[in-house]
Amino acid sequence: MNSDPTLNADLHCHSVISDGTLTPEALAERAKAGGVALWSLTDHDEIGGQGRAIAAAKAVGLPYLTGTEISVTFAGRVVHIVGLGFDHEARELADGLRATRGGREARAREMAAGLDQVGIPGAFEGALKYVGNPDLISRTHFARFLVDAGHCSDIPEVFRRFLTEGKPGFVPHKWAALRDAVGWITRAGGIAVIAHPGRYDFTPTEEYALITEFMAHGGRGIEVVTGSHTTAEFQQYADTAVEFGLLASRGSDFHSPDESRIDLGSLPPLPARLTPVWEALSDRIHA
Ligand code: AMP
Ligand code: MN
Ligand code: MN
Ligand code: MN
Repeated sequence: MNSDPTLNADLHCHSVISDGTLTPEALAERAKAGGVALWSLTDHDEIGGQGRAIAAAKAVGLPYLTGTEISVTFAGRVVHIVGLGFDHEARELADGLRATRGGREARAREMAAGLDQVGIPGAFEGALKYVGNPDLISRTHFARFLVDAGHCSDIPEVFRRFLTEGKPGFVPHKWAALRDAVGWITRAGGIAVIAHPGRYDFTPTEEYALITEFMAHGGRGIEVVTGSHTTAEFQQYADTAVEFGLLASRGSDFHSPDESRIDLGSLPPLPARLTPVWEALSDRIHA
């Protein structure tokens, strides 16, 4: 279809299948209304919403790429890898994601035990009330519970006080290996993309290691314009994309009308000098 880098593509968002608050159908309508011209639903460690997203996008006349966002442990830190344009019925990817999701319930019970020790009882059951997919209980669901129960005034405060490293509700977790996440996506016919690279607080040396290992495993893309980046980071990661010959991606990372700063389709376009990831995925688009 389109190799225009300035296309209003939004290739990163979340539904109730992971930690978003809208259904795939509501997201498709919202994306269409927001002027999105190419959309992808990228639930954390899940592709269970892809069939619904494909149908919903078709119903509103919105070109669609399959998507997911895989949690990876790299050099002892959490990195997110977005996959785009894969066959969502590929067995190896589905199995890999199921294994990646596997430890979430035990982790959530441990998180609740940590919160209980600082005077917040019932957080496991509390968080579960916000979960749309019992297989995918996330820190975001705990955050919504803690705000609504009056322990914090907003979600960023919950993460600061309770859910980040060293805080009472934080439980370290081993996610997928970088090699596996990139391999599952690539072997299913998709393209792996480093999500929001500006969010990891890596030193330049660590970032170089991430990008070179990612590319050695077959990764080809990087998010440049995302709801998680500052305007300065749009330029910084545009330079990174050019330097490494990576395809550039763009996505709001929209989770909820009540929580997300950036709505579907409302980011600035990719810098025109970049090669967009959708140029390499034209034969994978559901029109
Ligand atoms: P999990 O996969 O369970 O570790 O949860 C990660 C999710 O928590 C991310 O995808 C974000 O949606 C959310 N999150 C992480 N850090 C923050 C933060 N500082 N403020 C708000 N939301 C956050
Ligand atoms: Mn999330
Ligand atoms: Mn992410
Ligand atoms: Mn995301």
